[in-house]
Amino acid sequence: MDKFDSFRHQGLRQKLVKLLREKGIADERVLSAIAKIPRHFFLDSALDRHAYDDKAIPIAAGQTISQPYTVAMQTQLLQVVPGEKVLEIGTGSGYQAAVLCEMGASLFSIERQQELHAFAKKMLGKMGYKPHLIFGDGFAGIPEEAPFSKIIVTCGAASLPQALLEQLAVGGRMVIPVGGESVQQMYVVERLNEHDFKQIKYGMCSFVPMLQGVQNNS
Ligand code: SAH
Repeated sequence: MDKFDSFRHQGLRQKLVKLLREKGIADERVLSAIAKIPRHFFLDSALDRHAYDDKAIPIAAGQTISQPYTVAMQTQLLQVVPGEKVLEIGTGSGYQAAVLCEMGASLFSIERQQELHAFAKKMLGKMGYKPHLIFGDGFAGIPEEAPFSKIIVTCGAASLPQALLEQLAVGGRMVIPVGGESVQQMYVVERLNEHDFKQIKYGMCSFVPMLQGVQNNS
């Protein structure tokens, strides 16, 4: 069924943006992307009325669409500049990808669950966004498209994936939750030169785990 962005949805979205501001999100470009993108398009219709709660919500394949505050915070930390080459690991519903496209990123996004990859491809296409969506294992990154100015990982990694560090441009930054299966800490990793990286640690967060390999249910 085609999705519709009603005045009620738009009103709830404005309230969500106000809440994100109160919680400390200050980047106007992030806030206006969130104000514009119908988050309910990325959810099952049965969960429609929760689409603008500041909560993570279940999507297909046992995964979740990240909490809006988390999306806003990770995107703010990423400091995307229009035209920049960005790699996302964990396309999931495609919502974070829509936010990055709306902000002008030239986006490559990898998802290991075939079902989610297919949904995101269809929905983002319908909405007029043109990211490069790849069904595969994000641990490998995309060597043939490297280097990336920015890398955003939206699943929890046990440690910093080596291939992603290698594919980060000098002067680039990666935003990645690092830690255990249920709780991680948000890291920003800056590449200073060919060999050196600087790590800055932010608050605790909770993402679904970054897993090896792919899952093909189709
Ligand atoms: N950015 C998504 C968040 C989805 S949750 C959104 O806006 O909805 C994280 C996603 O990471 C899940 O869909 C999960 O399947 C995916 N994931 C986990 N490990 C991965 C890997 N190694 N490569 C690619 N995707 C992975």
